[in-house]
Amino acid sequence: MATSNEKTLDDLFLDTLKDIYYAEKQIVKALPKMAKAAQSAELKAGFEQHLVETEGHVERLEQVFELIGKPARGKTCDAILGIIEEGKSIMDDFKGTVALDAGLVAAAQAVEHYEIARYGTLKTWAEQLGLSEAVTLFDATLQEEVATDQKLSDVAETAVNAKAA
Ligand code: FE
Ligand code: FE
Repeated sequence: MATSNEKTLDDLFLDTLKDIYYAEKQIVKALPKMAKAAQSAELKAGFEQHLVETEGHVERLEQVFELIGKPARGKTCDAILGIIEEGKSIMDDFKGTVALDAGLVAAAQAVEHYEIARYGTLKTWAEQLGLSEAVTLFDATLQEEVATDQKLSDVAETAVNAKAA
C-alpha cells in the first residue's frame, strides 16, 4: 500500500505540466525577439507563425489544467531558461554576421526538441492515467512542434546555412 506521503504518477504529471506551462510562456516572450533578429524573411515569418501556434499551446495546457481540476500555474523550468539564454548569446555574439540566422535556427531547434521531449512524455503519461482528452490536446501540440522543427531544418538547408558558409 502506498503511504499518503508517497508521490505518484499524478504528482509527476502535474509537476511536468507546470514545467511546460512555464516554458511555453517563456517561449511566447522569446519568439518576437528571435523574429526581430532574423535576417531571412522566411525565417522571420516562421518565427511569427510559431508565436501564434505557441499562444495556442499555452491555451491547450490551460485546458489540461482544467480537465484535472487544478489551477493553471507554472513552475520555473531551468532547462528552458538555459536554452533561451544560449539563444540570446547567439543573437549578441553573431549580430550583423552572415552566421546569425544559422545560429537562430540552431537555438530554435533546441527549444523545439525540449518541447517534443516534454509533450511526448506527457502524452504517454496521460494515456496511462486515462486522460484521453489530454492525450488529444498534447498530441495536437506535439504535431505542431515536430512540424516546426522540420520547417527549421528545411530553412537551414535551403537558405540559411548556404549563406553562412
Ligand atoms: Fe510549444
Ligand atoms: Fe514550439
